[in-house]
Amino acid sequence: MTTLLEAPPLGPLLDDIVRSHRPRQESGTVPTNIPFLAKVPFDSFGIAVATTGGEVFSSGDAHVPFSIQSISKVFTLAMALQGSSPGSLWSRVLREPSGTSFNSLVQLEVEHGIPRNPFINAGALVVTDHLMEETSDAATQLLRFATEQAGNRQAVSGMAGSGAAGPFIDEAAAASELARSSRNLALAHFLKDFGNLRRPAEAVVHNYVRQCSIMMTCVELARAGLFLANNGQGTQGTVLSRSEAKRIGSIMLTCGMYDAAGEFAYRVGLPGKSGVGGGVLVIVPGQCAICVWSPRLDAKGNSLAGTAALADLSDRTGWSVF
Ligand code: GLU
Repeated sequence: MTTLLEAPPLGPLLDDIVRSHRPRQESGTVPTNIPFLAKVPFDSFGIAVATTGGEVFSSGDAHVPFSIQSISKVFTLAMALQGSSPGSLWSRVLREPSGTSFNSLVQLEVEHGIPRNPFINAGALVVTDHLMEETSDAATQLLRFATEQAGNRQAVSGMAGSGAAGPFIDEAAAASELARSSRNLALAHFLKDFGNLRRPAEAVVHNYVRQCSIMMTCVELARAGLFLANNGQGTQGTVLSRSEAKRIGSIMLTCGMYDAAGEFAYRVGLPGKSGVGGGVLVIVPGQCAICVWSPRLDAKGNSLAGTAALADLSDRTGWSVF
């Protein structure tokens, strides 16, 4: 693997990536079940790299908060693995790619209510239910986790977030998504019917949607994801053991990009997790965490410009796990 020192200087390289990949015309789609996401300008584009050496490089709209959506699933999994009974989670959710869309009901029924992995919606609902055993407000716990890892202690003490620097939950966006959450509610009721949900379906979906509605910038997300590139060591100390961090990276590689994980591995060669807000968090083990954001999506729900930019960046730096 190419080391950071051998890579081209990162500042100018990221500026060039932004010049080359910021969308010039509207293409791709936005999610129809989350109206708030349709309002984001199509030409938004940001990228940030947080290195294991403690540096952060960024370019474009890297300081603009966006909706992290499914990237939240990486952090809730990490929190569940930190908890007092991580083992019990793995009897409730598998670690296999799904090959179906992120909110598919079909596979869940055929497989008797055991989701394929924690990064599809059904799996994330089980992780949320697991977290809610210890705290009924897992979304606020996630916000605290993300804020600490992003290195914004000031916002941790303030916590409410509106107008304050640092991550915050966009409660209006969450409410609007919740009003259109029939499919996630259906997944939760399926899980409940199969005995794989302990809390009421409505409470779990409500909490899950609030997790997805956390707003963060590329810089904050790259810093928050650094522990995955750094053997479990985050910006504020140990988050997970080295082997748990490795395992989350492995699940990102195989399951992190909806049913396009194979295509993403082919093009980018790195573990990643995307969200329908247009963000992608990528890990270069031992070196850095990268977050790219551009809101328009491809047919599989991954950021169109973001994926192209990451493929370009990995080719130009040599960063890859292969
Ligand atoms: N809140 C979205 C949903 O549950 C998240 C989807 C995603 O980013 O994959 O539909």
